[in-house]
Amino acid sequence: MARSHGKKILLFLDYDGTLARIVDSPLKEFITREMRETVRDVVRSFPTSIVTGRDVPKAMNFVKLENVHYAGSHGMNIKIIGQQEHYQPLPHLEPIITEATKCLEKALEGVEGALAENNKFCVSVHFRNVDEKDLDLVEHTVNTVLGDLPALKLAHGKMVWELRSAEDFTKGDAVDHLFHYLLQHLQMVSSQVVAIHIGDDRTDEDAFKMCYVRKATGLAFW
Ligand SMILES: [Mg+2]
Repeated sequence: MARSHGKKILLFLDYDGTLARIVDSPLKEFITREMRETVRDVVRSFPTSIVTGRDVPKAMNFVKLENVHYAGSHGMNIKIIGQQEHYQPLPHLEPIITEATKCLEKALEGVEGALAENNKFCVSVHFRNVDEKDLDLVEHTVNTVLGDLPALKLAHGKMVWELRSAEDFTKGDAVDHLFHYLLQHLQMVSSQVVAIHIGDDRTDEDAFKMCYVRKATGLAFW
């Protein structure tokens, strides 16, 4: 706050690995009570957005806090406080992701520990519980499914492969969208704010870049 020189701080937070510790089951990455209280305090002082690869309802269910903006599915599903309509830049992707998830689930049925998670506008293939000897098979399966779906491309995260839009819309674009919305909402210009993004993975680098472009601050925790 001292280094913001009286400017309004806009806070963007990643979820997995940042607010919640990465555990064996990707569907059980809950935040601790202590972390939730910390975020609740932060939200009281600064406009706060959660920017995550998870879909919005899932992220909301994990975070369980009011007055937070959400950008889910790596930014492709943006829910602003008080607005019923979500901003979804690439709506045509949803049925493609449903199909990709079905194909992956079927193909990975026999691989112990592999989990395909439908995040509405991207599908995450978690391999943290897969035996090392089966990793090539999982990778091959992901590439085979990808080969039939030119609208998607592969992205690498921590213990996860993700099939995402081949068209670029990243966490950085989501932060940019929220940044402009917040400026408008607060009736401020960019020189009056400092944007801080906190994240722990490669996909967060797009958000750090966006904060840098906006002459703001990006923080990386690896
Ligand atoms: Mg993360």
